[in-house]
Amino acid sequence: MERKTQTGYLVLADISGYTSFVARTEIEHAEKAISILLENIIERLDDLLSIVKLEGDAVFAYVPDEQMPNCNVMLELLDNTYGLFRDSARSLHAQATCPCKACQAIPALDLKFLVHHGEYIIQQVAGIKDLMGNDVTLIHRLAKNSVSESTGWNGYVLFTGNCLERMQADKKPFIQQAETYEHLGNVETYVMNMHVRYDEMKK
Ligand SMILES: [Zn+2]
Repeated sequence: MERKTQTGYLVLADISGYTSFVARTEIEHAEKAISILLENIIERLDDLLSIVKLEGDAVFAYVPDEQMPNCNVMLELLDNTYGLFRDSARSLHAQATCPCKACQAIPALDLKFLVHHGEYIIQQVAGIKDLMGNDVTLIHRLAKNSVSESTGWNGYVLFTGNCLERMQADKKPFIQQAETYEHLGNVETYVMNMHVRYDEMKK
């Protein structure tokens, strides 16, 4: 099979609070809630993106440049996915008749998105598809970032600078930051609080 370098948007949707959530004693209930939330995320992201795989508490997806109509579509998709996540978390919690810690902690879960534009190679082995390349490595490194520490946010979107430029999106609504990674150097990032955005949309 030909392994051609392609360019497109790489998206990682990561449920935060997961680690502390499943560390609790009621693992079965925690796993069930997370599975339902992940299913909802995948269902919505699937409208525009190709899902690569589940990575524990995260969904990794991409869309090739030629399938990306304009930047508003990406922003709307993230808004919709975040909204669906929060709505489902809320209803899961409301339906939970169980007093266990896992069920009671559902509202503490939040969702972050990391979005980067770059190159990748699609690798297919025995019917299993995966993406490879430096930009794929970078987006996974970006999952470990200083956003929560510097802003206190748990639900947010982080675009790399080159991604926003590629999208020709307005940088004004974002806070500019930077992350530094070994072997990858300095990465300019733009972050937005999705939690606040969701509350504003609900008004
Ligand atoms: Zn429970």
